[in-house]
Amino acid sequence: MMMRAMLVAGLLATSVSAAPVLDTPVKDSWWTDGRAALDARLKVVNRPKRAKNVILMVGDGMGISTLTAARIFDGQHPIDGRAPSTGEENNLAWDKMASTALIKTYNTNAQTADSAGTASAMNTGVKTRIGTINMGADQGVEACKTPEKLPRTLAEIAKGQGMGVGVVTTTRITHATPAAVYGHVPFRDWEGADRAYPAADRASGCADLATQLVGFKGGLDVVLGGGRARFLPLGKGGQRDDGRNLVEDWQKAWPQGQFVADSKGLRALNSRNAGPVLGLFTPDHLSFEHDRKDEAEPSLPELARFALAKLDAGKAARGGKGYYLMIEGGRIDHAHHASNPYRALKEAQMFSATVAEVLKSVNLDETLVLVTADHSHVLTIAGYPERGNDILGYIKPPKGGGEGDGGLSPEGYALDDRGQPMTTLTYANGPFVSRGLSRTLPPTDPNYLANKTYGTSGESHGGEDVALFAEGPRADLVRGVMEQNLIFHIMAEALGWR
Ligand SMILES: [Zn+2]
Repeated sequence: MMMRAMLVAGLLATSVSAAPVLDTPVKDSWWTDGRAALDARLKVVNRPKRAKNVILMVGDGMGISTLTAARIFDGQHPIDGRAPSTGEENNLAWDKMASTALIKTYNTNAQTADSAGTASAMNTGVKTRIGTINMGADQGVEACKTPEKLPRTLAEIAKGQGMGVGVVTTTRITHATPAAVYGHVPFRDWEGADRAYPAADRASGCADLATQLVGFKGGLDVVLGGGRARFLPLGKGGQRDDGRNLVEDWQKAWPQGQFVADSKGLRALNSRNAGPVLGLFTPDHLSFEHDRKDEAEPSLPELARFALAKLDAGKAARGGKGYYLMIEGGRIDHAHHASNPYRALKEAQMFSATVAEVLKSVNLDETLVLVTADHSHVLTIAGYPERGNDILGYIKPPKGGGEGDGGLSPEGYALDDRGQPMTTLTYANGPFVSRGLSRTLPPTDPNYLANKTYGTSGESHGGEDVALFAEGPRADLVRGVMEQNLIFHIMAEALGWR
């Protein structure tokens, strides 16, 4: 009896007493910083579970070695008025996002993926073949005849529910990643009616991607990127051989819609005007940031800012419904294919600036923001450079360590077994010659070509996992090692779709 009474009393005491006070004599900056970091995490896990808006941001080809190299590059060459730093300790926009996961990128028939198969996985929830956009892994050309049997994209479902939909990229708007928002083709090259989509293949009945964009059911609210030539006929600034002018077709379908072709046109637009916006700023891809002329082409952060304002302004007309927006930093991939680390890192830096712009513009209690890459590249960060060594430069080891097989040059560079200085960044394959680039320039030159191993026409994608970063409702679902198609299911869950 006595024992039981004591036990009951003890239980009662536990249940009514306050939580133990967390007290300790040392509350220095480590303590307060740690506590602040905990509070930030508590805010994240206590966020609402439903998103009104979802923003998927894809750094094309932005593998993990690119993330690290771009972080150092951005610290050493800041663009926002900060003083240059050694770089390793720098943070890019996603380095402070709440949740991370590793993503398995392979396509159903390919160990190392391409953008078409990977963007399909993210936009439809099902993986498919390399080079294929938004068709099931077993669906071929004939499936174009039964569109109702094709995987549905997040944008198609969102539009069907009255949400806004937008797509922004630095590539042609018909290139694989942006095309996966709105299109379905068995072969990603079927972007327009031109040589890349031979007339014989057109008998299949699959519409080219530019045609699919213009015919998107319900319409895309904001479309900003490059690739105008896929929309215009031969001889009229375009390359279509079927005589169609898809910009005119789009204008007829959307009389209130506004088409713009340069920065001035975009800057003159009021994002609050009714009707969709189609901005095609270049015949082909937009320029690399390093080569961009601001009067002709807006930067990616500017495009993203306009798209967000446009989708936000349309909310009342949609009865308060949210939006799905895909934003791609599409040319990190292209610079890597050319074995040109400078442009790749500059593109990644601008993509980070775009992510920062998005994170500060949206309410993260109602907007899920996901940042990822579709696949990696064969960029490596090699050797033992000293802290703060120019990420583009030759390897200069710290004093007393990391000397090369060939010793040190008079400038202190580590030398390889042939007596040559080595760069930190190299590619495992790629071209030896590429237009405007050269292997004989100093490695810090923007036009340096960094492949030293063996020659292929283009440097290739890498097959290892990529990172996914998330912030906002259901960001907590982003964790561990994930298949890439799970990204779609997380977006759908955040939107409350079952
Ligand atoms: Zn690529």
